[in-house]
Amino acid sequence: MMTGSQYVESLRALKTEVHFMGERLASVVDHPAIRPHVNAAAVTYDLATDPAHGDLACATSHLTGRPINRWTHVPRTRDDLVKKAKMMRVAGRITGTCFQRCVGMDALITLHSVTHDVDRKHGTTYHERFKQFLVETQDRDLMSGGAMTDPKGDRSKRPHEQHDPDLFVRVAERREDGIVVRGAKMHQTGAVNSHQFIVLPGQALGPEDRDYAVAFAVPADAPGVIQVFGRQVNDSRKWEGTIDQGNATYGVVGGEALVIFDDVFVPWERVFMLGEVEFAGTLVERFTSYHRQNYGGCKSGNLDVLIGATAAIADVQGTAKAAHVRDKLAEMAHLVETMYSGALACSHECSSLACGTAIVDPLLANSAKFNTARYYPEVTRLAQDIAGGFLATMPSERELANPRVAGFVRKYYQTRADVPAEDRLRLGRLIENMTGATPIVECMHGAGSPQAQKVVVQRTIDWALRRTLAQRIASTSKP
Ligand SMILES: Cc1cc2nc3c(=O)[nH]c(=O)nc-3n(C[C@H](O)[C@H](O)[C@H](O)COP(=O)(O)OP(=O)(O)OC[C@H]3O[C@@H](n4cnc5c(N)ncnc54)[C@H](O)[C@@H]3O)c2cc1C
Repeated sequence: MMTGSQYVESLRALKTEVHFMGERLASVVDHPAIRPHVNAAAVTYDLATDPAHGDLACATSHLTGRPINRWTHVPRTRDDLVKKAKMMRVAGRITGTCFQRCVGMDALITLHSVTHDVDRKHGTTYHERFKQFLVETQDRDLMSGGAMTDPKGDRSKRPHEQHDPDLFVRVAERREDGIVVRGAKMHQTGAVNSHQFIVLPGQALGPEDRDYAVAFAVPADAPGVIQVFGRQVNDSRKWEGTIDQGNATYGVVGGEALVIFDDVFVPWERVFMLGEVEFAGTLVERFTSYHRQNYGGCKSGNLDVLIGATAAIADVQGTAKAAHVRDKLAEMAHLVETMYSGALACSHECSSLACGTAIVDPLLANSAKFNTARYYPEVTRLAQDIAGGFLATMPSERELANPRVAGFVRKYYQTRADVPAEDRLRLGRLIENMTGATPIVECMHGAGSPQAQKVVVQRTIDWALRRTLAQRIASTSKP
């Protein structure tokens, strides 16, 4: 297993093509726009090598029996799934933001079972191939980007109906030694600091979409893989200073990129699905169940940080004892524990797939993510309420070194006599960072928009049973 610093150094060996602000970056590791996200991902490595957390972040490979980082582990038991949820919360508490590595983890977990099921139906050999890839990923402790979301073009049309056939990743050519893929994946978390991508179809597919039913892995620096790093609100603060960033070490959300596959060659040993359209829906359902489990864990860890910052700002401003402030802090904690409960519940109510992989309960996992989309903004609203208007009007950290105004800024931003103004500004910037548009949008759409969770709930709930329960108690006749 790698340590965090070994992971960072391993990225330097890659020739990843990343563009940002109109230029190709010479180094992803050292660029100020990207470094915080590298630091956040490095936490997933440090946790596994830290004796205090090793039990959560380490696992034993079911394929080799060797100790591995849990972010490369395929869960086999209830305990594995519970530890996955708990590990999310711990990493979320340390970073206060997205640590990115769960998307690739969930892609690994999903492909393990789906390749098994495809082989059973079609007599293919994807599963053995995939297991070799998994062992290599585990032994080298690689970070994988999980690439599922296509650009999708006109949402009312299927992949083959789009005006441009490349709006979903597809097979452009079949060769003797492998395939050539074309298309792009959007919003890719941790992509620029991943070693490899695991690419999966992003939705259920029909027979006409055969060329889109493709799953594969490629190194992040394979020829033809081009990344465009996204902008974030206030990102220029990253090269201006530290206090104004709010979370200068770990950034905000996962540092997402557009990943383009410009006729990328994939050798057969890295192809894990090719044309088996009927399994695309199963794959998406399993992936999203695992991924929605995470959101109840990582975001509750992040919000623990926000609750702490909000309680601290109330202390600093002299409002901590007010009944309404204590009530709002309790409300925040209640919402966070509700999110986390879902992550734990879906892990405890797991079942086993044919290949022995443990899978979370889909209804509970989807409810956990739905709660996250709904409660994260609510918790941020309460934080902003308690913190006050200065969140939106604070001066630049440079004024603290501006001889003409520094004294005034320190004087007028100070609240309690024994706490320097700079502490208040630092807490304010952290709250600003965590309650802005970017993390709220992440909680809304990351792992799928809320409607995608509602669809699972609508489909999974036994409505007839519920009607019968009520009709029996109310003694009504059946409609
Ligand atoms: C911060 C962040 C990180 C992410 N990380 C990753 C990642 O690492 N890997 C990855 O693969 N993806 C990632 N995603 C992508 C995420 O899964 C998608 O954003 C999500 O699935 C929604 O897709 P979309 O953004 O294309 O929005 P859309 O699908 O366009 O949804 C927008 C709205 O339109 C509605 N809608 C969509 N289609 C239809 C339709 N046919 N009919 C009616 N209504 C419709 C939706 O319900 C929603 O309300 C990330 C997203 C974010 C914001």
